[in-house]
Amino acid sequence: MIYDLIIIGGGPSGLSAAIYALRARLNLVLIEKMAVGGQIALSDNIGNYPGFPSLSGVELMQKFEEHAKGLGLNIIYDEIKDIADGGEYKIITGVDGTYQAKTVIITVGASPKRLNIPGEREFTGRGVSYCATCDGPFFKDEDIAVIGGGDTAVKEANYLTKIVKSIVLIHRRKEFRAEKIIQERLHNAKNVTLELEHTPVSINGTKTVESVTIENVKTKERKTIPVKGVFIFIGIIPQTSFLKNLEKDENGFIKTDHYTLMTSMPGVFAAGDANSKKLLQVSTAVGEGALAATSAVEFICDVC
Ligand SMILES: Cc1cc2nc3c(=O)[nH]c(=O)nc-3n(C[C@H](O)[C@H](O)[C@H](O)COP(=O)(O)OP(=O)(O)OC[C@H]3O[C@@H](n4cnc5c(N)ncnc54)[C@H](O)[C@@H]3O)c2cc1C
Repeated sequence: MIYDLIIIGGGPSGLSAAIYALRARLNLVLIEKMAVGGQIALSDNIGNYPGFPSLSGVELMQKFEEHAKGLGLNIIYDEIKDIADGGEYKIITGVDGTYQAKTVIITVGASPKRLNIPGEREFTGRGVSYCATCDGPFFKDEDIAVIGGGDTAVKEANYLTKIVKSIVLIHRRKEFRAEKIIQERLHNAKNVTLELEHTPVSINGTKTVESVTIENVKTKERKTIPVKGVFIFIGIIPQTSFLKNLEKDENGFIKTDHYTLMTSMPGVFAAGDANSKKLLQVSTAVGEGALAATSAVEFICDVC
């Protein structure tokens, strides 16, 4: 069977693309490797998705999934390992099967780099966060830790200074890699203390985060700092390593034409966190899903 469209990834972007393409009556399937909902399902509370001042990621994604299924969405569970250009159609190879489609939308997302220390996984969504814009307001007037020393870590710490009571910024090196102007802003903030040349070794608590234990990189001396939140900004990895035939930026994010979201392979589009851009959020993922679906519809009509 040759589908009009195959969507790879069932997060906000993939489900948004599905809703638009199903309403355009494309014959499509969405292929997801784990569970529909994507990484936002990790979030206990989303405060910035318009129209829903407070609900969990799981609740929001259930609404997306119900909407798409109501339009007849068909989901296959498989992990895609390759996309090849077969001329008139694309050949999509998964672990369990091979699929063919006239167009493809890639919405495989990106994951924050993890520290892989005790407590990190257990407390994700219960004090451990990878997103200041999303979770900062939940820590109003609390003491928190921020981990990292690059642009994102320092920028996000700056943002958080206006919300929280205090920040301890933990960085493994003596100096920050962030732009000087962003560093200056941080140094001017009254509620930030620095723990340079330290790495976190565990995040501790019972039901939620209560403290973080850090280690001096030279002396190996450890200390435990009481905090209610730990924000980790040590990088983000797009889930695109399997896409050998597409153009990507230096960090592995997919390059697209901004007007249509077409990738370097004609008929293959990309949307959401896997795309090279500034803001990785549900709202941008949803908007791009809609745009990619509309472009896929037009692509099929142009070549039909
Ligand atoms: C803890 C946390 C809290 C957040 N809070 C907020 C918030 O409050 N507000 C906000 O706007 N944003 C928030 N975000 C960011 C938001 O989750 C992302 O911007 C959004 O989920 C991106 O959607 P996406 O569809 O592009 O990718 P994802 O949600 O990452 O979905 C990608 C999907 O593709 C699947 N997939 C990956 N590779 C393959 C493959 N090879 N084959 C098949 N399937 C594959 C994955 O399993 C996944 O289901 C948060 C993120 C995290 C981690």
